[in-house]
Amino acid sequence: MAIELTCIVCPRGCRLLVDENLNVTGNSCPRGAAYGKQEIMDPRRTLTSTVRCDSKQFSVCPVKTSGTVPKDKVLDVMKAVNGAVAKTPVHRGDIIVKDIAGTGVDLVATRDLID
Ligand code: SF4
Repeated sequence: MAIELTCIVCPRGCRLLVDENLNVTGNSCPRGAAYGKQEIMDPRRTLTSTVRCDSKQFSVCPVKTSGTVPKDKVLDVMKAVNGAVAKTPVHRGDIIVKDIAGTGVDLVATRDLID
């Protein structure tokens, strides 16, 4: 029995079928096949959000995970995001939280915030 997934790698949103041998069909490109296998074996997500900022000028700092985190760790990561505070000056790519929620992935700023 195959599992049906929607590929989220690009906006085209191909409908994938992944069989019990991890053969993927329905993908329009190799990235979809890789996504289908990954989603069955070890589903992961890149998260984007904002954290509070200590600046008088900026109330929040946009952030994202520097890589993908396991889907079952997303809630733990979001709890850590909610408790994080960015200290200005912040430069794009600065690590706001290292090894967030023990995932081995850092939370990084996605823009400069300089008072
Ligand atoms: S299979 Fe390829 S073309 Fe289709 S949604 Fe995924 S990345 Fe986009």
